[in-house]
Amino acid sequence: MPNAATEHDRSGEEISVNIPTTSKPRIVIVGGGFAGIALARGLRRVHADVILIDQNNYHTFQPLLYQVATAALEAESIVYPFREIFRNQDNFFFRMANVCEIMPQANKLKTSIGEIDYDYLVVASGSRTNYFNMNDFQEHSLSMKSIPEATAIRNLILANMEKALLVKDMEEREGLMNIVVIGGGPTGVEMAGALGELRIHVLPDDYKELDFKRMQIHVVDMQERLLATMSPEASASAAEFLKKYEVNLWLKTKVLSYDGKILTLSNGKKILSGTVIWAAGVAGSVIEGIKPELVVGGRYKVDAYNRLEGAKNIFVIGDVAAMLTDKTPKGHPMLAPVAIQQAKNLAVNFTHLLANQPLNPFAYRDPGVMATVGRNHAVVDLAWIKFRGVIAWFVWLFVHLMTLVGFRNKVVVFVNWAWNYFSYDRGLRLIIKPAKQ
Ligand SMILES: Cc1cc2nc3c(=O)[nH]c(=O)nc-3n(C[C@H](O)[C@H](O)[C@H](O)COP(=O)(O)OP(=O)(O)OC[C@H]3O[C@@H](n4cnc5c(N)ncnc54)[C@H](O)[C@@H]3O)c2cc1C
Repeated sequence: MPNAATEHDRSGEEISVNIPTTSKPRIVIVGGGFAGIALARGLRRVHADVILIDQNNYHTFQPLLYQVATAALEAESIVYPFREIFRNQDNFFFRMANVCEIMPQANKLKTSIGEIDYDYLVVASGSRTNYFNMNDFQEHSLSMKSIPEATAIRNLILANMEKALLVKDMEEREGLMNIVVIGGGPTGVEMAGALGELRIHVLPDDYKELDFKRMQIHVVDMQERLLATMSPEASASAAEFLKKYEVNLWLKTKVLSYDGKILTLSNGKKILSGTVIWAAGVAGSVIEGIKPELVVGGRYKVDAYNRLEGAKNIFVIGDVAAMLTDKTPKGHPMLAPVAIQQAKNLAVNFTHLLANQPLNPFAYRDPGVMATVGRNHAVVDLAWIKFRGVIAWFVWLFVHLMTLVGFRNKVVVFVNWAWNYFSYDRGLRLIIKPAKQ
């Protein structure tokens, strides 16, 4: 019984992964993000048992996390339970667990619920926030990689407004209202635009005693321009739009320190702010057990088939994979289309592998990049055309709605967007405290 490995939980009770062993090969996928679910789906007709392991029991649609953080969408509308996604897939098993170690010699994983063995392992563990060893920011700023983190941002913004009402000192009050976003990539820009809308259209009606003309929103980035991975036209358009929302842009500027109240920039400026959001960097979410020489820039080195370098039965896809080629010397960008396309290619390759046929190398088809900056305004860079404004905004809405997992989520998000658009309101300005502080 290779999978009867057991551990004990904190109460001392024995727990076991308890997955029956069959004569079919076992493919274990770590991580149910864009890559993990696309692969598991693609394996539905493959003669293998497919086991998905994730620390959560749901898939998170990360591109809309900023809307949860700014009270535009409820958390439930951008996540979807794995058991619902795969309810009709007979060769699929799910276990909720944290994978702590890969043991390649033994073909096993060490997880929080016990050991799980595999014939083939696919690591799709995505990425984590990278603070570049800046402890101040790790300690005092908030990042936005998960539902709990996005909810924590919403809670803090609103809780600081509640606190601001109680403070008489004007400087201190402003500090509680001010928000700084570190990072001017798509996440930072989208966040800043949504905050600009909150400040103009929503918060003044809720907090009539506060003067929102005094509230400052700042974006800080080391690069010369916002959206540095997009075209200069997209950058200029995003900057112009954010300036209309009176967002202060600090480009070619580094953040130096933050103590929870005062943020210091490399140009000497000090900003008083109780809410600092870190959107400045991610690194692959690597798991212990793989030789360090196979990790580059926090990602696993893979060959053209997404196979871990030197391994026979371990594959890596999505954000955590670094496929280094002449065209991609730093690996592919950490984007959802890369993760999905690698997963689909690997699903086809598993049918080839199990039939002893040659594998297809991965070739990325770049569908373009887009970012929304605010109401009626987005920027879209496709290979053959670049555009911005209202049409780009509708394209952005459509693409995100169509990529969301689950029909219910599509409907809920669409209704929320329509409500927010026509009413200039957000229905979700709740401060939901965790049960235990
Ligand atoms: C705020 C934000 C906005 C974004 N916006 C866009 C966008 O507009 N367009 C775009 O293309 N991309 C966007 N991205 C990037 C995109 O979300 C990622 O490229 C994509 O999610 C990568 O997919 P993945 O499957 O590799 O990893 P993920 O989607 O991150 O999934 C990884 C999964 O692994 C699980 N996991 C990790 N470690 C463990 C472990 N040890 N044990 C068990 N489970 C584990 C996690 O719980 C998670 O479910 C955005 C990302 C963020 C954070």
